[in-house]
Amino acid sequence: MNEMIENLKDRLKEKGYKLTPQRRATLDIIIQNQGKHLSTEEIYDMVKENCPEIGLATVYRTLQLLDELDIISKINFDDGCSRYELNTHEDDHQHHHLICLKCGDVIEVEVDLMETLEEEIENNYNFKISDHKVKFFGYCSKCQ
Ligand SMILES: [Zn+2]
Ligand SMILES: [Zn+2]
Ligand SMILES: [Zn+2]
Repeated sequence: MNEMIENLKDRLKEKGYKLTPQRRATLDIIIQNQGKHLSTEEIYDMVKENCPEIGLATVYRTLQLLDELDIISKINFDDGCSRYELNTHEDDHQHHHLICLKCGDVIEVEVDLMETLEEEIENNYNFKISDHKVKFFGYCSKCQ
């Protein structure tokens, strides 16, 4: 976690930003809730507990900034809100998600079997793929 904060400090500094207490508090919440895919409002509610003076607009702008700096990624699960998660592997692309249509649970998938598909697309469409995002919709083990 300290390594992450140090890394963020450096990246902010490169771009001429400072690690303000509000930015630090927002990132702390995301780090503490790794794997939970929190929405902007959920993050705001949690940050407010430690930082009562913070406003939703500040949290919103901080999330956008952290996204721009590739510290976090914005994800859209088609549930009407923007969600964020920590970028754990710096060079890796985002892992894939299983989304339950009944309870809304989101399960992270670590296996990536997309190389063959990418190869085929690159060959058939003469398209150089740099990344992909995959979401699977269905029913989790509890909801089947
Ligand atoms: Zn479910
Ligand atoms: Zn995830
Ligand atoms: Zn993948």
